[in-house]
Amino acid sequence: MAVVLAVVVLGSALWLALRSPRVLRVTFLDVGQGDAVLIQTPGGKTALVDAGRGSPVAELRRLGVREIDLLVASHAHADHIGGMDDVLEAFRVRAFMDNSLPHTTQTYARLMNAVESERDMTYLRAEPRTVTLGSASIEVLPLPGPSSNQNNRSVALVVRYGDFSVFLSGDSETGQLRFMTRRGATPDVTILKAPHHGSANGFTHEFLAAVRPELVVVSVGRNAYGHPSEAAISAFEAAAANVIRTDEAGTVTVAGRRNGLFEVERR
Ligand SMILES: [Zn+2]
Repeated sequence: MAVVLAVVVLGSALWLALRSPRVLRVTFLDVGQGDAVLIQTPGGKTALVDAGRGSPVAELRRLGVREIDLLVASHAHADHIGGMDDVLEAFRVRAFMDNSLPHTTQTYARLMNAVESERDMTYLRAEPRTVTLGSASIEVLPLPGPSSNQNNRSVALVVRYGDFSVFLSGDSETGQLRFMTRRGATPDVTILKAPHHGSANGFTHEFLAAVRPELVVVSVGRNAYGHPSEAAISAFEAAAANVIRTDEAGTVTVAGRRNGLFEVERR
């Protein structure tokens, strides 16, 4: 009897192991026109890069978020930081990173008030460094100088989990993309979040040839700026096997394995 039970238990453990391989989940939240990218390691560590214009808290709870190890504001525009004070209020956040370029809006002031009221949160400067997030790591790329505009000083990150990697760079435009390409700060990655919502100024052919994504995710909603542009979408389609848009697909989760393979999941 005990032997039979042991075999059954072992069998179901094996089945579970095969059914749920250890994956890094990267979720591009459908926040309308804006960005919010959630990173969840197999060991339960969590990072959030941008928080959309409205509050993403309910969606984050649905996705299983209880606390946030690293919160990043790529730059100070409202479609990236508008929901961030709500995030700080709702969750314990251990570390915060931004592009250290102040902005004159009330949205930015509201976020800074929320950041300053967090007593035990660490401030991490966005400078070339690697931040450990459980079994994943987040490489922070060099930033152009403080004379750049907000978009061209977006915090740029490469999230790595073994051979699986994701390139995130907020709303960087051609100026910052050229800066990174010139410096060789554009490694070959698995997945690219389209810079600047697929704007016509959110790509260069040199940048795409360097990062060589297999999948491009365009985080975009209804907008008056013409995002995404046809030129950007054709360039992404030429560079990558797949292009997914959050305005068409809704929230998109990519589950990446250490060997570099990944699946797009419904959650
Ligand atoms: Zn934006």
